[in-house]
Amino acid sequence: MRNLFFSVQFRLVVAFTMVLALTLGSVSVYLKYTAQREVEHFEREFEEVRDIRVEQLVAQYYSDRLGWAELQPVLEQAANLFGRRIVVTNQHGDIVADSHRRMGGPGLMFAPPNSRFRPILSGDNQVGSVAVGSTLLSDVVPEPQFSSLVSALNRSLLWAGLAAGAGGILLVSLLSQRMLVPLRSLTSAAKRLGEGNLAERAAPSSLSEIGRLSTTFNTMAENLQRAERQRRDLVADVAHELRTPLSNIQGYLEAVKDGVLTPDSTTIETIYQQALHLSDLIEDLRLLALTEAGRLSLNRHPCAIEEVLDGAVEAVRPRAEAKGIALSLESPSGLAHVLIDRTRIAQVLGNLLDNAIFHTPQSGSVAVTVEDRESTVKVTVTDSGEGIPAEELPNIFERFYRVDHSRARTTGGAGLGLTIARQLVEAHGGRISAQSEPGHGSSFTFELPSGEHAGDQGGL
Ligand code: ADP
Repeated sequence: MRNLFFSVQFRLVVAFTMVLALTLGSVSVYLKYTAQREVEHFEREFEEVRDIRVEQLVAQYYSDRLGWAELQPVLEQAANLFGRRIVVTNQHGDIVADSHRRMGGPGLMFAPPNSRFRPILSGDNQVGSVAVGSTLLSDVVPEPQFSSLVSALNRSLLWAGLAAGAGGILLVSLLSQRMLVPLRSLTSAAKRLGEGNLAERAAPSSLSEIGRLSTTFNTMAENLQRAERQRRDLVADVAHELRTPLSNIQGYLEAVKDGVLTPDSTTIETIYQQALHLSDLIEDLRLLALTEAGRLSLNRHPCAIEEVLDGAVEAVRPRAEAKGIALSLESPSGLAHVLIDRTRIAQVLGNLLDNAIFHTPQSGSVAVTVEDRESTVKVTVTDSGEGIPAEELPNIFERFYRVDHSRARTTGGAGLGLTIARQLVEAHGGRISAQSEPGHGSSFTFELPSGEHAGDQGGL
């Protein structure tokens, strides 16, 4: 019952009833006063016309007879006809006929109450006057009352209003019922979604507002479903990535325990490398979790970017030389200072250089170039390696994404390097992108805000 009072449908019906009652009430009041006024006006005009007719009748009588003789019976008939007392006087003011004299009245010798004498003219001369009483004679058939017209009108209006109201309430109930069907289905869809059924979707509606609500609901449900899928994939990926080095370590240790393998320095070094790999992986995951949650604190200072780039390039030079790859850094002099966390930006460039060297064959080249733009500093790492197929390019910044899915997990990264690079660059208020031509090489570019723009960007 309580639910009924708070339902939209009930409120719509109540609102409609109130509007209807208000409209009917005001129309009725307006009609009552206007019609009353019109009826009074009409009655006055009606009396005036009747008096004029009596006056014409009496004047006609005088001009026919040239006197007032035998007027009395004519006047009595006229009084019967009009239902009013009529009194006629001659030019001296003496009453020559009074319809009331033989109609049972006392034969008053003065004008009827509330009457006015109208002059009777013959040519230009006044030959007498006539007065018509305003009240209806008691023994004549009463005239219909104009005022009863107003109340009849009001009554009709009331019945018409009540009928229209009942029909209107029925119509509003049916319409609102129909209108609320999609809203009810949306509510049950939201309930099922809340209970964990993420595949739940709302049916589209032809009503634009509810249609928009359904679309928004469906977008929200899709996002929730995608987020849930990503969460599950992430847990599975993390477990998978951790299991590989861990089972390697386990395998080596079991072999040593069973006496199959001697614990010499080579074995220990292999186990140590696997432990390092595991530790790097855990550190990458921790960093990723921090950046994605926006909780990585950057130690930002204004510094010359070329110094940071130089350090990162020199760190990988031995590896590049070992592979016979030409490694170069080109940076113009007088670069604007950037407000960065040196370690993190060095890490970004380190990841890009690691990838470039890994994917570039012997005698290839890897070049780092720097451009000073108006409000940014743009760093590009170009390699002459195998390149990345166009269909893979949009995914390479995704977590755990590897272009070569069959590549052994032990041989390279876990597909987190570029994800971390993107998170770190974005944390600095910058952006990162990749272009590639399969078979010819790839180039990765990241831009960082420089000068006065550096201070109001990103910053964790
Ligand atoms: P990983 O740690 O596996 O290298 P990344 O996130 O750094 O993961 O890179 C994702 C994928 O992008 C890699 O698996 C690799 O296939 C591809 N990739 C990255 N850099 C390059 C490059 N310079 N040339 C070719 N492929 C690359």
